[in-house]
This record gives sequence, structure tokens and C-alpha cells, in this order.
Amino acid sequence: MEGKRVGVIGGGQLAWMMGAEAPKLDIELIVQAASQDEPAVSRAKQVVFGEVDDANATAKLANLCDVVTFENEFIDLEALNKLEQDGVRFRPSLSSLAPLLDKYEQRNYLKSIDVPVPKFGLYPTEKSILSDYGFPVVLKARRHGYDGQGTFIIKNSQDLEWLTKTVPVSELLVEEFIPFAKELGIIAARNGRETAVYPVTETFQQNQVCHYTITPADVTESVAQEVETIARKILDKLGVIGVFGIEFFLTADNRVLVNEIAPRTHNSGHYTLDACDTSQFAMQLQAVTGMALGSTALKTAGAVMVNLLGYEESESDYQEKRDRISAIPHSFLHWYGKTSRPGRKLGHVTVLLNREQLTATRSIISQIETIWYAKDH
Ligand code: ADP
Repeated sequence: MEGKRVGVIGGGQLAWMMGAEAPKLDIELIVQAASQDEPAVSRAKQVVFGEVDDANATAKLANLCDVVTFENEFIDLEALNKLEQDGVRFRPSLSSLAPLLDKYEQRNYLKSIDVPVPKFGLYPTEKSILSDYGFPVVLKARRHGYDGQGTFIIKNSQDLEWLTKTVPVSELLVEEFIPFAKELGIIAARNGRETAVYPVTETFQQNQVCHYTITPADVTESVAQEVETIARKILDKLGVIGVFGIEFFLTADNRVLVNEIAPRTHNSGHYTLDACDTSQFAMQLQAVTGMALGSTALKTAGAVMVNLLGYEESESDYQEKRDRISAIPHSFLHWYGKTSRPGRKLGHVTVLLNREQLTATRSIISQIETIWYAKDH
């Protein structure tokens, strides 16, 4: 093993879930968090305070550990490059992250390695929206978008006018609207000697935010194979050491297009925590410390994962609702300990399914969402 002290840039729920896995692997997790309130602080062996893009904080973090990894990609790459030159070991390496941090550059990179992506360009510089794309069209902030913040589905010229007045960014990624049949996700890991992929997941977004996932995705064997092949290709070409989450569109005629690569663990892989032999969080720690990757197999026939999204401003810990959801058989509820505001990911629940329940996923999801979103509890 290369090192037992792992530093992670970012103190959110992804680092928090890594924090639960670290002791089982005999790893000390040291976290760079923006404030005492961030979820991962409670599970970190040590904390260095600083924003994700604060490279001075990362320099301190690096002094405390053998390898530095990421739960958030909103980093200052240029500043971290200097640390890497001074010998800090980043996993994934900064060169494997560099083409991914800007959504436009990421699209260009994927195109350059012949991975299928939606037609794209820069707005307003390169393309004329109406003649090249028509409506609807999708515009995205090139950096710092998450949970659909920074992604705009533009239906008509009024929407476009509103956007140009409201969004203070001069240049956006523009891409064709894909009338997808499904959205898929896959988690893939690489340690330099081997690459491992998890089962393909179907993800369900509303207003560009993931509400739930179902695993395994109900797709043909050849679609699953293609998703897996693309994931392996991306990790191999970039020389990744770590875990990536990759999101896809599946069209009605079974074409697979990459929507986005997250160079870290991802919401679409939360089900792995309870449903797979190795969780994506343990996997990241194993990959970045040079351990064998281990099995990505499901322990059950399937799993649904439902995000518990904030729907109000509140300090409540929603204990009563959490108790009711936890009473669902084979459910595992993870509560991140954050204060609620609309759209914020406060926790998630995974329900393990046997073969007979694979056709009953919608009723389990609606049972959870009914309890969670009911206003009278
Ligand atoms: P984020 O980085 O904030 O997660 P994404 O780019 O992944 O944003 O977009 C969020 C969601 O918006 C997607 O999961 C999908 O539902 C929708 N979306 C994004 N791009 C397109 C597109 N080109 N065509 C259709 N829907 C899209």
C-alpha cells in the first residue's frame, strides 16, 4: 500500500461517506473543509479549514498525508500544479483532471477520443443558436455547475432573452437538447493495474436534479456493454487513479451519449454503499492508496436509491420522517446532518430488492417520496 493517510479536498457528504469507510481499511482520512458545519468534519481524523479552491489549505493538507484525493472538482488547478511539482501526490493526478474541469473542454476531450457526445459549441461565440440548434436548446455554465445549477433548458427566444439578462457569464456551453429515453450512470475505478466498473444505473432527474436511481438499469445487454466500454476507455485514456462517475443519455434508438464525467464519487453510485460488495467510497480509498480494487458486484438482485432533498428552509432534523422511512424493510438511510433549504441534498435512502421486487421499484420510491415530501408531518 502506498499510504495510510489520505487527504480529501472537500468536506461534503461524499467525503463524509468516505469517512465511514476509512477506518475499515485502516486509513486515516484528513479533510479540507470550508467550515465546521460541513458533514465530513465529524468523521475526519483531522481537518484543515479552507475552501475547495484554497491551495494554501491544500498545501497544509498535503503535509499531513501521503496522498490527496478529491470529493469536489471546483479546484484551482494552476495553484495545485505548483504543489504537484513540489512533490504532492494527487490521485487522480492533475493531468487526468485537467481536460474535465470545464464542461466545454470536457466535451472537446471526449470528442477527441471518439466518445459520442451531444452536438456542442460555445454561445454566443461559435454558433448561432437558432440556425444550428433550434429550440429547445441547452446552455450550461462552463464551470461550477452542480445539481442542475448552471444548466438551462431553453425552450424559446423569450427564455433565451431572460437568460442573457440574468446569467452574468459571457460565454456558455451550448448543446443540442437530447430527447433521451433514459439517463444512465456508471461508477468506474482504476488503480493503474486494473479497472473495475459497477453495474449500470438508471438515474431520474426532475428540474435537472437527481431524485432517485434504480440499479441495475433496465437496458439491453449491448447498451450495458457499451456504457461499460466507454467508461473503461475514458479512465484508461486519462490514466485515472481513483473513482469517476459518468452520466449518459440513452436515445430511443439505443444510442449512448456521454453527458458528463464527474472525476470523483457520484450521487448515482450512492446505492453501492449498501448494495455492493465494495462501496464507491471504499473503492476510491482503495484505488488511491494502491490497494486491489475488489468486487463491484451487487449483493442483492437490485437497489433503489432515493435522495432526500430539502423542500423548505429549516433547522429540523426530520427525525420522525426518517424513522418512518427507516421502517421500510431492507432500507438504509444516510443523513448528512445539513440544514435544509429547497433542493439541497440532505440525505438518501437505499432499499435493497430481491428478484420479485425488481418490478415494484416505483411503488417503493413513491412510498419514500410520499413520507418525505408530505407537508403534514
Ligand atoms: P449538472 O452538472 O449540474 O449535474 P448536467 O449537465 O448533468 O448538470 O445536467 C443536469 C440534467 O439536465 C441532466 O441530468 C438532464 O436531465 C438535463 N440535461 C442536461 N443536458 C441535457 C441535454 N443536452 N439534453 C437534454 N437534457 C439535458
